[in-house]
Amino acid sequence: MSSPLQRRLFAFAAFACLFSSVYSAIIAQTIHDDHDHAALNKRLPSTWYQADDHPAHKLFKRAGTDGQVYAQVGSPTWAAGYPQSTPDPSKLPQAWVDALNAATAAGKIPGFAPSTSTGGNPTYPQGMDPNGDQICSTTYKCRKNPENIYDAPDGLLGVSFDDGPLPTSDKLYDFLKGNNQPATHFFIGLNILYNYKQFDRAFNELQDDIAVHTWTHPYMTTLDNMAVLGQLGWTMEIIHNSTGGRLPKYWRPPYGDSDNRVNAIAREVFGLTTVIWNQDTEDWSLTTGGTTPQKINASMTKWLTGPKQPGLVILEHELSDQSVQAFIDAYPVMKSNGWNVVSVARMDGQAPYQNSPDSTGDVVPQEVALLANNGTSSSSSSSTTPSGTSSTSSSGLPSGAIAPTGGASLQHNSAATTLPHLANWQVQALLVTCLVTMLSTVVMISRS
Ligand SMILES: [Zn+2]
Repeated sequence: MSSPLQRRLFAFAAFACLFSSVYSAIIAQTIHDDHDHAALNKRLPSTWYQADDHPAHKLFKRAGTDGQVYAQVGSPTWAAGYPQSTPDPSKLPQAWVDALNAATAAGKIPGFAPSTSTGGNPTYPQGMDPNGDQICSTTYKCRKNPENIYDAPDGLLGVSFDDGPLPTSDKLYDFLKGNNQPATHFFIGLNILYNYKQFDRAFNELQDDIAVHTWTHPYMTTLDNMAVLGQLGWTMEIIHNSTGGRLPKYWRPPYGDSDNRVNAIAREVFGLTTVIWNQDTEDWSLTTGGTTPQKINASMTKWLTGPKQPGLVILEHELSDQSVQAFIDAYPVMKSNGWNVVSVARMDGQAPYQNSPDSTGDVVPQEVALLANNGTSSSSSSSTTPSGTSSTSSSGLPSGAIAPTGGASLQHNSAATTLPHLANWQVQALLVTCLVTMLSTVVMISRS
């Protein structure tokens, strides 16, 4: 018979065996669950993180978070990647042209001809109503396109500035930063090329939302489809390549001149939503005597003290010292009248980018073009790259253009588990070890 010590040894071995079996089964099951439910939010409470204005934040600022390498903003390589003036429609990346052709073939781009305009209202082919359902010209104040944004939600004032970045933007950015006020900037592509320091301030320092205002600021309805493609595409491209791969979700037509054909190209090829406005300060004409600070002040007072249904989208510019000052003068009135002053791109509570929640969050790798109708998410919750966009070689960028290097690597944005995944063979090895231990104990007891 065995001694009490031997019985204890046997009991211990049996317990160890049972424990390791149960434990490994639990671990395997837990990890399996994590794997299946990658969307589970396992972050620590946000209060664990440093506040945005904490010095530690700057030390860990994210740059190209989609895993690609982009030329440094402002460097000669960066600048060489873009047209120096009006984009040449015969030298557009093939992927953009293919996307336009596919959308046209699918009947998604209205076939009416471009308007003719010489600085005034656009004129369409005889018999076509610019305010009708087919054309719906925003210059004619048509508001019937349900895809467009004209108003803000009740009680909200969406802040945005057109025509930057420019040297005059610095004064505005100092004010926005001093008041911790987020805004959307509808940037002109060529202005980004020439004023990259202000661009860098808007995106990196203010962490404001960047949107599209075309490459050279033309009357968009006068352009043919390929010219529209170039104006939007290059502006998307320079923003994408200068923000760590982010793709804007919104664009605003210069002079507010768009129609259903132009809107469709923006939406179907680039995934862009058209943003108009519901009040116009005409601050762009301050420098030419078209309006005065007194007139703007009177208009602002009327709008800001008026009803809040719908909310306000006021057209404003970072075009001149005077237009910037007009916003600075009106800002206290916005706040004192109880408006919820937000960035236009976040009025709906969603992300300003098609593939990232903001200026610092994770980025889902994504190419310019082929954005619409391919499952592009408005948030970064998806951990996979939408189909049809994984090939970087198909972008067809002309020589000198900056294409992200390497393939589109998948990036898991959710807090995925970092525990090692126990394979079946590992679980089996544990069980075998356990059985050998038990047997050895039995043999040892029987021999004693
Ligand atoms: Zn403009």
